[in-house]
Amino acid sequence: MIPPLPKEELAELVTANHILSRLGVVDAFGHVSLRDPRHAHHFWMSRRVAPGLVGPEDVLPFDGDSNPLVADPPPVYAERFIHGEIYRRSPAVMSVVHSHAPPIIPFGAVPSVPLRPVFHMAGFLITNVPVFEIRDHAGTASDMLVRDRKLGAALADTLGDMPVVLMRGHGATIVGCSVRQAVFRAVYTISNATLQSEALRLGPPNYLTPEEARNAGAGNDKHIDRAWALWACGDNESLVAKPSSHKKLPRSAKQ
Ligand code: MN
Repeated sequence: MIPPLPKEELAELVTANHILSRLGVVDAFGHVSLRDPRHAHHFWMSRRVAPGLVGPEDVLPFDGDSNPLVADPPPVYAERFIHGEIYRRSPAVMSVVHSHAPPIIPFGAVPSVPLRPVFHMAGFLITNVPVFEIRDHAGTASDMLVRDRKLGAALADTLGDMPVVLMRGHGATIVGCSVRQAVFRAVYTISNATLQSEALRLGPPNYLTPEEARNAGAGNDKHIDRAWALWACGDNESLVAKPSSHKKLPRSAKQ
């Protein structure tokens, strides 16, 4: 048994679930996890429930093989191996988001049109986003889900050191060096997919160069907390760690 997740990290993960649900990154399906900040081989994720309904009591620890680390565990997500195998392969990744958001699906389905950064908020994409082809690892009759370690490891290899991997006919998996960065990237990956589809209807898009994308991404990384403060607004007051700028002004300063 590992010690409970510190209250602040737990609140961050619960809030991430709610934000992703509110912004349409996930619906009844999809999930987000956090690598244990003290035990790098473990991670934390909700039991099998819609992310918008996750509370702190739903979050449980998993070991490096994606097995729940509690006695008599509740039902857990079938695709937890996505998380465990990415954490195993990529030590810098601290958080993983898995999404089925509709705008990203066309870019997994049409091999001749890669997802690329079409606006500065998705600069972190840098260049063509890799696509995971489950048929290469599970044949032509899988149910499309990453149901075991082998498929999780294949997905992690396709992701490599990139921030996002598309999954053909399924969705995408997005990683970050914090929960906030993973959520930020997930939100803007979907915005980029929507905008790129719009642009493609008008004509051949003029994409960001890798240098423009890298610079824009580095700049945006400094302002993730601003987005988080907005997106977390309205979440359970007792759970959300508000940034200092969110504190109410003293009475004397209000006049
Ligand atoms: Mn899935």
